[in-house]
Amino acid sequence: MTDTVDIQPIHLGEPLDAARFGARSVRLSQLAVLGLPVPEGVVLSVNAVREIAELGIFPEFPAGLCDGLVSVRGSAPEPEWGGPTAVLNIGICDAIMPDLIKKVGELGAYTLYRRFIQSFSTNVMGLDAEVFDGHETDGAARIAHCKAAYLAEVDQAFPQDPMEQLRLTLKHMAEAWNRPTARILREAKGAPLNAGIALIVQRMALGIGQGVCGAGAVQMVDDVTGAPRLWGRFLPQSQGQDALIGGAVALPVCGDTGSLEAQCPAILAEFMRLGKLASAGFGEALQFEFTLENGVLSILDATPAKRNARAAVRIAVDLAEAGAISRNDALLRIEPRSLIEHLHPQIAPNAARDVFSTGLPASPGAAIGRIVFTPEAAMASAARGEACILVRHETSPEDIRGMHAAAGVLTVRGGMTSHAAVIARGLGLPCIVGAADLRIDAHARQLKSADGRVFLEGAMICVDGTAGQALAGAPEMTAAAVDDAYNTLMGWADDVRTIGVRANADTPDDARVARDFKVDGIGLCRTEHMFFDGNRINVMREMILSEDTETRRDALARLLPMQRADFVELFEIMRGLPVTIRLLDPPLHEFLPRSRAGMQELAEATGLTVDVIAERTAELAEVNPMLGKRGVRLGVTMPEIYEMQARAIFEATAEVNKSGSAVVPEIMIPLVSANREVELVKARIEAVAALVEQETGITPAYRLGVMVETPRAALRAGDLAQSAEFLSFGTNDLTQMTYGLSRDDAGRFMREYVQLGVFPEDPFHTLDIEGVGELLLIAAKRGRETNPGITLGLCGEHGGDPASVQFCKVAGFDYVSCSPYRVPIARLAAAQASILTEE
Ligand code: PEP
Ligand code: MG
Repeated sequence: MTDTVDIQPIHLGEPLDAARFGARSVRLSQLAVLGLPVPEGVVLSVNAVREIAELGIFPEFPAGLCDGLVSVRGSAPEPEWGGPTAVLNIGICDAIMPDLIKKVGELGAYTLYRRFIQSFSTNVMGLDAEVFDGHETDGAARIAHCKAAYLAEVDQAFPQDPMEQLRLTLKHMAEAWNRPTARILREAKGAPLNAGIALIVQRMALGIGQGVCGAGAVQMVDDVTGAPRLWGRFLPQSQGQDALIGGAVALPVCGDTGSLEAQCPAILAEFMRLGKLASAGFGEALQFEFTLENGVLSILDATPAKRNARAAVRIAVDLAEAGAISRNDALLRIEPRSLIEHLHPQIAPNAARDVFSTGLPASPGAAIGRIVFTPEAAMASAARGEACILVRHETSPEDIRGMHAAAGVLTVRGGMTSHAAVIARGLGLPCIVGAADLRIDAHARQLKSADGRVFLEGAMICVDGTAGQALAGAPEMTAAAVDDAYNTLMGWADDVRTIGVRANADTPDDARVARDFKVDGIGLCRTEHMFFDGNRINVMREMILSEDTETRRDALARLLPMQRADFVELFEIMRGLPVTIRLLDPPLHEFLPRSRAGMQELAEATGLTVDVIAERTAELAEVNPMLGKRGVRLGVTMPEIYEMQARAIFEATAEVNKSGSAVVPEIMIPLVSANREVELVKARIEAVAALVEQETGITPAYRLGVMVETPRAALRAGDLAQSAEFLSFGTNDLTQMTYGLSRDDAGRFMREYVQLGVFPEDPFHTLDIEGVGELLLIAAKRGRETNPGITLGLCGEHGGDPASVQFCKVAGFDYVSCSPYRVPIARLAAAQASILTEE
């Protein structure tokens, strides 16, 4: 029956079909089915409305439709497609005024009549609202004035036949839907060219009259926490959306005085009862649009309750626990990235924003602090207990201690996988990179923005790493908050996900954060970061500057106990879980001082002369260090370094495994491009293992794997899998090398590239499925062909990007690994990927 009839009652007893009757009609019919007090009415289907607009043909209205006053509202198939303004109070004419006065009183009746004339004139006949200016108080004189103004403008008397009023309104609304502006607006929101609209004709619930009358909106959950709380606004003697329009002096729904509760206490229990009924039926927390007519409640619409990202989690969990939706539905309702709001402080939603620069949103959260330009100043500031923002052209490993000391980081250069971005994400530090329109004058210690503002060292700024905006001053903030609902949701995510989530963690602190975020292990420990602490950097530098193997071995022997102690601490924290240690990767020059003053300091610490240091530094300089002697190339040509690291790993494992649950280290070789590299390093590591076994009597248990981060490694994964027990895709370098795009320089033009549609997204942020993704699939296939039991993981920054996690799940990877603060995002994304692919 519902397929052919073009006009249907709302109280049909079953939900209407959205494609034919629009979303609002569906909601109203559903509310009616659930027993909520929805005013009676009918819906004209999309088809019926089209006939009205194109042919002027009206469907047959049910008898008595206009016996009382009615409203007409649009009902588009998708709410965001918009629709014409509602027209209320249709049916008022001179003839019914005596009855209306009896019902709602003289003032109420004249107010309603005046409102109707004005709304009909402006919304249906297209008159300017100003033509009715001139009278203030509602009464017979004002109605006469309004009618006269209408006559003067339209050249006809204001229509007195309710059916004519209704037909004119319907015709106008049907035609309005087809106007070019309306079309353009909805097409921008994804509406198809032939999208139609349905119209709802409904008995009026009069919010104007005697007793408690008015209209408002109410919801049963808090918009910030998601906890049950009844709140809303109510405007006495009003209709429709009056209470929500700016400037209206609406009352709170709850409260002891001056509230709706104070006027009509019984209504709260009724809201609670209806709210429960509706949220169970809809599987959603709702906001009601309501009208009270002489204390009698009508529900005019129900839309999803307002909520921020944190509240959304609590609402989804509460609905699932109440049985209104399934746990999987709850998991699918939360946008994984929105969990950021639980994990980091943010700028308050309504805070004023004085933005002076925009860059790439490299690490989420917001931080306020005073500008410092050097890592030393950052440390001094931290020592004074003052929050600071470290502002640099770009950062290098030398800046790490300064980054640790800062509340946020802002760099002029760099892309999403630049040093600053990767480290800040690891530390959970808000960070913007590639703010290319800023100029740093290091000499004058000042920062200049494109609009000519100058910020001196010490000026207060705010880094919004979620939006990529740098703001002047200190806007209002909201704190991070991990609550019970969040923990419950994450527990459900872990129950359903089938792909592991590990963390990229370099230090014991990182590992602790990762463990708190319930990781399945460490997927990448970048050992280079262990060499910057305290005195180690100088020993490391001695090792690098050594001219012969013997001196190098001597320095390495001094680094060994430090490195071993690091691993012991890391393994203790990660007991029972896999820990992947990457052997040294960066080009060695990154560890050397750049300035003359730094060289001077090193000279004093090591006894070498500044000239020797400068000369050795010059020798080590490379034209393109990212493609130079780094990664496994260091391991092959300076094998003592990897030997020391392997020994430190084995000795630390033996120590930790003396008691408690065992840790199995995974040793990972970076930047491989040929299997022979792996064979050479593997032989050395096996020799170290044999030595340690001889010395301790314990056979080191470990797994050896290879990072696939060059295109050649991906293509030759079949060979690599013969030597490796696992392949871990380093998609930062792999993206860099596949595109031939410097990860440290891409920030300069990435925004423009994405805006112009050259790249759909920043490929350092979201995996380029078409290109880099194909290499991953080829490598996975070839790797599995020669070693079916091989473990496959991904440890580039993409491991924390929901779409990339989904790709890894579909590709059958065993795990993804990402910075600790992104672990929750990856866990939820992994759960969603499982639900969506296994359903
Ligand atoms: C990578 O290249 O993806 C990777 C994880 O290593 P890094 O970022 O340290 O180069
Ligand atoms: Mg790499």
